Amino acid sequence: MSREHPTITLPPHGKSRDDVIAAMRKQRAKDVDWHAGQVFSLVFHAGDEAIELLQEAYTLFFSENGLNPTAFPSLRGFETNVIAMSAALLGSKGSVVGNMTSGGTESILMAMFTARQWARANRPHIITPEVVLPRSAHPAFEKAAHYFDMKLVHVSVGTDLCADVAAMRTAVTSQTIMVVGSAPSYPHGMVDPITEIAALAQEHNLLCHVDACVGGFMLPFVRRAGYTVPDFDFSVPGVTSISADLHKYGYAAKGASVVLYHNRELRRHQLFAATEWPGGIYASPTMTGTRPGGAIAAAWAIMNYLGEDGYTEIAANVMQAATAIKGGINAIDGLHVLGDPPMSLLAIGSDSLNIYEVGDEMGQRGWHLDRQQFPPTLHMTINYAHIDNVDRFLADLADSAEIVRKFSLRKTGNRVTVGAAKAATRMLPENVVSRLTGRAASLVGTGDSGGAPQRSAAMYGMMGTLPNRGDLKEIVLDLVESFTMPEDKK
Ligand SMILES: *Cc1c(COP(=O)(O)O)cnc(C)c1O
Repeated sequence: MSREHPTITLPPHGKSRDDVIAAMRKQRAKDVDWHAGQVFSLVFHAGDEAIELLQEAYTLFFSENGLNPTAFPSLRGFETNVIAMSAALLGSKGSVVGNMTSGGTESILMAMFTARQWARANRPHIITPEVVLPRSAHPAFEKAAHYFDMKLVHVSVGTDLCADVAAMRTAVTSQTIMVVGSAPSYPHGMVDPITEIAALAQEHNLLCHVDACVGGFMLPFVRRAGYTVPDFDFSVPGVTSISADLHKYGYAAKGASVVLYHNRELRRHQLFAATEWPGGIYASPTMTGTRPGGAIAAAWAIMNYLGEDGYTEIAANVMQAATAIKGGINAIDGLHVLGDPPMSLLAIGSDSLNIYEVGDEMGQRGWHLDRQQFPPTLHMTINYAHIDNVDRFLADLADSAEIVRKFSLRKTGNRVTVGAAKAATRMLPENVVSRLTGRAASLVGTGDSGGAPQRSAAMYGMMGTLPNRGDLKEIVLDLVESFTMPEDKK
């Protein structure tokens, strides 16, 4: 299916600084406007003063490289401080060590790789290392298994949407090396029973990773603000590693996370050194070589700028908004929050309305909510950027639900098109959907790849009838490829 795409070359002559910046500002106008507090994923915002601080800290260390800590003792100092502060926040009694990484995915990749190396050294009978985890765990674990040739054993969550520890116990085999819980899980914002999962690990001499990517810098402050938070960190016996993202509720600049281990012996398996290279002795603790000094410096800066009080105050404000939003959603006829999420992530579902249509209506009102599947829901990550928008959000949501209810009544009987693949396409940007549905049409054998816009609902329907999920994966991979190719000029 190779396709001609436009060739883009370097401009023969450089452009003026003003022209370059103006061109970028123009492009930016098409992006979601996160600053208005209407986007519920991807961006975490602690106010304009915090942004200014982050930008200053980042540009101060804009050119510095975290690859070699001996050249930049300043960065080394910031990084060791960030790790130590994170460890203390997450229940370390002093033995916890770790590293900064570029994000949650890299932290999880490192924890998975470390587990594999640990097993090679300590569990020589294991042929294919298995990791048992709830179905709600982040896809970064699947990515790690894909990269490092490990096997994931997914276990369905319970009716409370939390990890089902009894089912996890049943899934443990002689090849299992690690069990995983999330604090909280991304899809539904539920904190898995970490104490029980860690106890299961201890029973079988396994490692136990807690994915606190989104909760690690929020849950401790939610607790400090007076809310009940289940135990999830190194204070729980049996927890051996934790991932926690500074660039989420740590409100740091993008490219900042920590991976922490309960002791040095375990972390040792993560480290890499090449001693025979003509370029010299080369060592690096994580996936990346060159590391942006700005991300390290900005993380140190925001942690010192906010401090315990600052983070707690933000958490209190966010929780007030989240509590109001949860109550407000449950009060709207036909809508409900799934489970009882203890933090500020939640999923909106419906037993009577097409929730994706509610999402479309919200989109027309400027609110950007991600679509989820199994079951269909809309996702919210509520952070400081949203705290002034609660009433307007709930009013628009009630309005959207009402419109969808009327609309659905008119066309009941035409609702057979909702399927899993449709859900998948709804999670993707509109401008790629026609190409996608064209491909879907040829896959399901209609031979029609015209993709006329007015037929897209029918096409969505066909997506739902795709013979197997493997086809869906190929379609999505086509898209991933297309994202790095210049768009066709219309
Ligand atoms: C965001 C997230 C990740 C992945 O982090 P990235 O920074 O996007 O790589 C992993 N787990 C959970 C629970 C998350 O919310």
